[in-house]
Amino acid sequence: MNYEAVREVDPAVADALAGEVDRQRDTLAMIASENHVSEAVLEAQSSVLTNKYAEGYPGERYYGGCEYADEVEQLAIDRAKELWGAEYVNVQPHSGSQANMAVYTAVLDPGDRILSLDLTHGGHLSHGHPANFAGQVYDVENYEVDPEAGRLDFESIHERAERFDPDLIVSGFSAYPREVDWASFQAIAEAVDAYHMADIAHITGLVAVGVHDSPVGIADFVTGSTHKTIRSGRGGIIMADAEYGDDIDGAIIPGTQGGPLMHNIAGKAVGFEEALQPEFEEYARQTVDNAQALGDHLEKHGFSLVSGGTDTHLVLVDLRDSHPDVTGKEAEEALEAVGIVLNANTVPGETRSPFVASGIRAGTPALTTRGFDADACETVGHCIAEVVDNLGDEAVMAEMSDIVDELCADHPLYE
Ligand SMILES: *Cc1c(COP(=O)(O)O)cnc(C)c1O
Repeated sequence: MNYEAVREVDPAVADALAGEVDRQRDTLAMIASENHVSEAVLEAQSSVLTNKYAEGYPGERYYGGCEYADEVEQLAIDRAKELWGAEYVNVQPHSGSQANMAVYTAVLDPGDRILSLDLTHGGHLSHGHPANFAGQVYDVENYEVDPEAGRLDFESIHERAERFDPDLIVSGFSAYPREVDWASFQAIAEAVDAYHMADIAHITGLVAVGVHDSPVGIADFVTGSTHKTIRSGRGGIIMADAEYGDDIDGAIIPGTQGGPLMHNIAGKAVGFEEALQPEFEEYARQTVDNAQALGDHLEKHGFSLVSGGTDTHLVLVDLRDSHPDVTGKEAEEALEAVGIVLNANTVPGETRSPFVASGIRAGTPALTTRGFDADACETVGHCIAEVVDNLGDEAVMAEMSDIVDELCADHPLYE
């Protein structure tokens, strides 16, 4: 990974790329949505398919010369069907957000009503935040998680749905540490005669191998990102019953996109093939075990976890009980200084601005890809606790930075 061809043309970008490789090797990527794809996925994603226009779908393109594009896209579709058990799959969304946009476009008219989780409680911008197109085109109301329990409260969601009478209910989240009961969402959607879209962006990998229950076959639409826990080429995916296939196809192209990113679709195909191997199930289980080991260690150290733990690949720490004077932003910055890269996150019942926030979100997908086990994740938990307990203490920072260096050296990446 020395980017020789780039260097010849453009040393500035080559330096930045080389710097990024080193950064990924020498720090702990704990942003819960991130992962490290294999070199096979990287290679496919940087392939000559970036040159190809393939508007349309396999076998029915608007351009000639699509025989290899067809092969690659069909492989991605077939493997996705096998992984998630969906009748219909579209692998063309450029991202998870584009996948959501296409579903909205397929079944809603401007002004229709969407009910989704509040962003500060763990929702996503594309679920209808006022700053997002969805919040501007549709009439959006939010449900919340119970601020005490940190969990979804289906009675209150049902009440809100009865009052608001939405056309579409969104489930699936960015910062929710518990398994989601898809059937309860579906029952509410049916009771108010709304569509149900389950956005599994974060947990695609956990769902693919049955570590989490699947919404496929329950929700009308299942959307996701393909670069998070599923660890394939960067982009999005939509799954649905066969009856919705034509509407979704049309909502992607011509509805909201032009030519598909065929190189990314090649990366998806390769990543899905990897995920079909038995080792991937071990990976997904270990990712959750690691998040639980991390969470247990932090709790033992006095930190509060939203919902009291995790069933997922992430923990959400509410700093207000244990460190009332430390903001999420301060914790994030201090941790980055020792090589632990995660993000400040709002927590249920947030009392600070979302820019500083009162929590931190820490995920284990990328660490688990590097071979971290539960013991190594406890060590990471120790480092996080020491840094947050001793903000600004240079000696502690230096000590934790050494431990992070050792962890990185023991778990090499892109050798
Ligand atoms: C990450 C995420 C998305 C999509 O993100 P992209 O960056 O557009 O791929 C959508 N929904 C949720 C819940 C997410 O966490």
